[in-house]
Amino acid sequence: GRCLAVFTSGGDAQGMNPAVRAVVRMGIYLGCKVYFIHEGYQGMVAGGNLIRQATWASVSGILDDGGTIIGSARCLEFRERPGRLRAAKNLIDHEINNIVCIGGDGSLTGANLFRKEWEGLVKELSEKGEITKENAEKFNYLNIVGLVGSIDNDFCGTDMTIGADSALHRIMEAIDCITTTASSHQRCFVMEVMGRHCGYLALVTALGSDADWVFMPESPPEPDWEDKLCEKLKITRENGQRLNIIVIAEGAIDKEGNPITSEYIKDLITKRLHYDTRITILGHVQRGGTPSGFDRILGTRMGTEAVLALMEATPTSQPVVIALSGNQTVRVPLMLCTLAVAQAMKEKNFILAQELRGRSFKR
Ligand code: ATP
Repeated sequence: GRCLAVFTSGGDAQGMNPAVRAVVRMGIYLGCKVYFIHEGYQGMVAGGNLIRQATWASVSGILDDGGTIIGSARCLEFRERPGRLRAAKNLIDHEINNIVCIGGDGSLTGANLFRKEWEGLVKELSEKGEITKENAEKFNYLNIVGLVGSIDNDFCGTDMTIGADSALHRIMEAIDCITTTASSHQRCFVMEVMGRHCGYLALVTALGSDADWVFMPESPPEPDWEDKLCEKLKITRENGQRLNIIVIAEGAIDKEGNPITSEYIKDLITKRLHYDTRITILGHVQRGGTPSGFDRILGTRMGTEAVLALMEATPTSQPVVIALSGNQTVRVPLMLCTLAVAQAMKEKNFILAQELRGRSFKR
């Protein structure tokens, strides 16, 4: 049978394990030899015992685990060609030329580059005698399928990324805990949630928590926002509201592109309104805990589809990302997803970048 490998890369997200499990089991079900590549690209570059065969049992009982049991990492060596050359050798040594990459924007961009270089890498390895001529011929193409694991929901081409729903659950639990104490003491809370370039979590958090205000990168506030914010808070208090919640994405900016920070908002409210104002930065709590039911199913569906896409791939087919579109699992070209957003971000066109990233919160 054919060999395929699965790895997780970049920041972890709840739901990666269900995806890993589905890849392994669907692969075995279809008669493939399935490998884990531990610690993301680091394991691919290092090889050795970081590339190990998976069994049906090795993914048992992981559906409800957060994070990723095969480890994730950031890997500098893979960004350079010599690192990718070693990665190619390690894969070919295991007769692997089908891989499922579960990661964010960066990981999938790296995968795409790797695939484009593959032929050249194989040629070089063969010329140097590091792989046999026979293997060089047999594995002269690389099939890649991407799955987007990211709590930020920041990927173009899919309605939801694996992990975003669980992160929202974690945030909701945290806000529910904050509101009781905020109300008791008539406090104002500035809640900072993750999302460097993507305000999805901030926006849905605000909608789901009865917040008074939200700051997010795609929608910088009007220049007079400070007056407007204070006026709004004052009115709510006058109307008997005992607490205020302000949600801010970590990547919030003003119209000039300067960061708006939690500290700045807190100082503003304290100075102008003299409210007891506190900051809660949720941080890594958002990535933790068990995957939601939605993410377990999403990871399972996407992992299954990834293996099917790999099995149907030909040497000339374009690499795809498995995406969710209107609750359908679909395959979209990897290049369309990563390049368009990268271009928009380079031009600091955050709103366009967001539109490209998905239809997730159009309405
Ligand atoms: P997150 O959403 O958590 O940021 P990510 O996948 O975008 O996830 P990155 O740190 O950007 O996380 O990328 C993970 C790894 O992918 C990097 O450490 C590197 O090994 C590889 N990688 C990223 N970009 C490239 C690239 N342009 N070329 C080669 N490899 C890359």
